[in-house]
Amino acid sequence: MTRPPVYVTRPILPPLEDVYSLLQEIWQTRILSNGGPILQRFEAALGQYLGVDHISMVGNASMGLVLALRHHGITGEVITPAFSFVATSHAIRWAGAEPVFADIDPVTLNLDPVEVEKRITSRTQAILAVHCYGTPCDTAGLQRVADRHGLRLIYDAAHAFGVRENGRSICTSGDLSVLSFHATKVFNTFEGGAIISPDRETKLAIDRLGNYGIVDETTVLETGLNTKMSELNAAVGLALLPQMDSAIATRARLANHYSDALGDVPGLRAVCPPGRAGHNYYHFPILVGDGYPISRDALYERLRQDGLFARRYFYPLISDLPMYRDLPSAAPSMLPVARRAANQVLCLPIFPDLDPVDQERIIGIVRQPC
Ligand SMILES: *Cc1c(COP(=O)(O)O)cnc(C)c1O
Repeated sequence: MTRPPVYVTRPILPPLEDVYSLLQEIWQTRILSNGGPILQRFEAALGQYLGVDHISMVGNASMGLVLALRHHGITGEVITPAFSFVATSHAIRWAGAEPVFADIDPVTLNLDPVEVEKRITSRTQAILAVHCYGTPCDTAGLQRVADRHGLRLIYDAAHAFGVRENGRSICTSGDLSVLSFHATKVFNTFEGGAIISPDRETKLAIDRLGNYGIVDETTVLETGLNTKMSELNAAVGLALLPQMDSAIATRARLANHYSDALGDVPGLRAVCPPGRAGHNYYHFPILVGDGYPISRDALYERLRQDGLFARRYFYPLISDLPMYRDLPSAAPSMLPVARRAANQVLCLPIFPDLDPVDQERIIGIVRQPC
């Protein structure tokens, strides 16, 4: 009895009928892009859902990060974690700036403000922090460091859809936050993303920078890029939003069950223990430590044998990749906490329609790998 493969995530989709009625609207209006009526509605609905006022939709989060950095004129050093998806550092380079890696906190696996402060030089202009797995950064600590040194604080919130802290969207922290709506994220528009601005003036400036720098028919103010989201992607997002409360609630239930079932396994630690209000359980990462009977990689292979595709997010560290490993801050001794996390982490499959039978198979193997 072989079951279909179970991947680390599986995208959720809106009801096809709901998308279809929006498509009919597009076919009638012939407005396909450029901030059309569906995108406008999507921006308003998403703002309502997240509890934020100023949203710029973009084609993906990578371009969103580049735009955010460019908006603030960041061309110097940007302090960022090596324990993240490679797009975080790539965006810094595409903006014309240079990443400087700082170590992470051993509990949250997010950028550690104390380590950030150690990396500040006269060339430092910004901090690009990541809410890894949807766990909020130490936003107060990072803001204090940023304020003390006159730095911009930008958040890669690709994992943090719907995450709240003290009753507010995590995307209201710092100068700008960038969400990803890629297929594999908590919420998706197939490809897409959004930049959350603190005020309307900033939002309009970002919209302009993402629309070639055009002001009106005869005025181009700056060297902009095209980062626009199409009406097609906006339609998917608009139709999917009503599902998000229940999708996140289901993730929380699955995370709870993993946590209960694996809590007593020696050598394992859950990175995102359930019960934290406002978390989205984007991933269910565990750290496979010395007390566990087999190595992280052996567990990864053991699960694969049964068609259960857990993933090592984030391994290797960004600082070990060929285009970054010669940076001074990438030296192997510099990032001990990030390195240990990269060597121990394994993200177990979690997504709203994960079959309970499959979750039990995963739990069974993790509890008893040999
Ligand atoms: C997915 C991801 C991105 C890139 O998002 P895209 O929308 O695919 O460009 C950036 N940062 C992190 C941390 C991510 O996980």
